[in-house]
Amino acid sequence: MQVIGRGGANILIDYGDPTWLWRCCIRWPDLLSSNNSYTIKNISYIKDYVEPLLHGLLCPMYLIDVDIEAIRPILSDFILNLDDKVVKVIKIKNLTNNTSNLILNNHFLKSYCSQNLQTVILELKPKWLYYDTDYCRNCTHNAFKGRGTKYCYNQLLMNPAHLELIFGECTIFPVKFKAVMHEYLRNDNNIFKILYDLQKKLTKNTTPISDIKSINDVNDEHLLLMTLRDVTCFIEWNSAENALHVNIIDVDLKPKEKWTHWTKTYSQLTSSQKIYHTSNK
Ligand SMILES: [Zn+2]
Repeated sequence: MQVIGRGGANILIDYGDPTWLWRCCIRWPDLLSSNNSYTIKNISYIKDYVEPLLHGLLCPMYLIDVDIEAIRPILSDFILNLDDKVVKVIKIKNLTNNTSNLILNNHFLKSYCSQNLQTVILELKPKWLYYDTDYCRNCTHNAFKGRGTKYCYNQLLMNPAHLELIFGECTIFPVKFKAVMHEYLRNDNNIFKILYDLQKKLTKNTTPISDIKSINDVNDEHLLLMTLRDVTCFIEWNSAENALHVNIIDVDLKPKEKWTHWTKTYSQLTSSQKIYHTSNK
């Protein structure tokens, strides 16, 4: 058993089954019971509010109880007081099974392939596909963070040819895969368009970030919007089918307490250098 991924709020554990992984919440480093309560709330939120919006593209996942003794050696590195007998774990499909070669790795895109390039996987974070400012939220935020990212998924949505910039100097991708990707991007039901439309609808129905003055101003629609601005998409292509399979992960409920972080970032961006490009908002 080993930790194979770590985010700010979760760890991903390989427990010996090649097709499934365990995802454990570590957002509260003091008490296991706090993480357990959140995980129960989170899986209901995902099933009730997020999954119905995603056109069947949510990665298979469900809640299980794991005996604390089975996981204690790992979890004790992340949580101080293991004050429960069970750990509420989200069992989630392993989306990179058999494709262990990492061929691209930057802040918003990882790509894996199988040994013979029969399978290619893109793991990407589209972030704010819709924005109601005159500047691009993704590009402006990247510039603010000094990331030097040359591409943007909002631009990809508007122009499939942007894919070449996203792949950059990585020339390993099979021609057949690139052709299927271009075809997918021209289809109005692609995942970028689905997320764009959802973000647009929710943005129009929620209080603008600039008007949030307290935790009471953060409503459920706003939390859903922030979830949809932070998802990860897996796009898998295999040569035999010459087709794409899309799965979405990282669809967690955001704690309302994060509103101070959201408003701070917003005000930092309003006074930073703006990046503009064409959008069809
Ligand atoms: Zn942009």
